[in-house]
Amino acid sequence: MAAVGAYRCIECSREAAELYRDYQRGVLRISICKSCQKPVDKYIEYDAVIVLINAILCKAQAYRHILFNTKINIHGKLCVFCLLCEAYLRWLQLQDSSQSTDPDDLIRYAKEWDFYRMFGIASLEQTSFLVGIFITLWWMRPEMLKTKSDFFLLLKALLLSSYGKLLLIPAVIWEHDYTPLCLAFIKVFVLISNSQAIRVTLNLNRMLPWLAIFFGLVFENGVVYLFQKTGWDV
Ligand SMILES: [Zn+2]
Repeated sequence: MAAVGAYRCIECSREAAELYRDYQRGVLRISICKSCQKPVDKYIEYDAVIVLINAILCKAQAYRHILFNTKINIHGKLCVFCLLCEAYLRWLQLQDSSQSTDPDDLIRYAKEWDFYRMFGIASLEQTSFLVGIFITLWWMRPEMLKTKSDFFLLLKALLLSSYGKLLLIPAVIWEHDYTPLCLAFIKVFVLISNSQAIRVTLNLNRMLPWLAIFFGLVFENGVVYLFQKTGWDV
């Protein structure tokens, strides 16, 4: 049997020892939460697509299922992929503004370098955003981020919940008049998703995650501003 607290109830976030009990001969029964008397995790019976739709709808239960009751481990790759999407978007916007069609090799290398530069900038912004969030939460609720595993769980939750950035690619590929609006929607969606991830991971009210995100954005813009001040073309 799994250790106590290996899982969490997706309804009330109480720790649970198991998600289901195996009665042999193929009989499985979903465990009932001792605290709220509801099934600990109804999603274990659901199709992955349903779980994904519920996660897109920002349902706290779906977030708890993914973060606490699955062994999903794609946050690192997802983060790199999201940064690539963002770098590509900025790089395209840079090409649009420079309007150079000269097929000179030198220009091609300069364009490639531009892409790496955009990747660097996107990484810097993402890192400062996360640092801002961590500082705020650690300052407001130091007891919530005591151990390394608390820290890594929150980091994983924030990286996973930024999956909306993948939508940047279709948004720029199918470019139309409403593309700027779509990009703004994606940004808002990612922030809502991040706030829900913080709320679920640390079991907070709605207010504090938004405060953390606000300071994350302030910190991010502050760092970018400092880099520009020091002469970097950010
Ligand atoms: Zn419960």
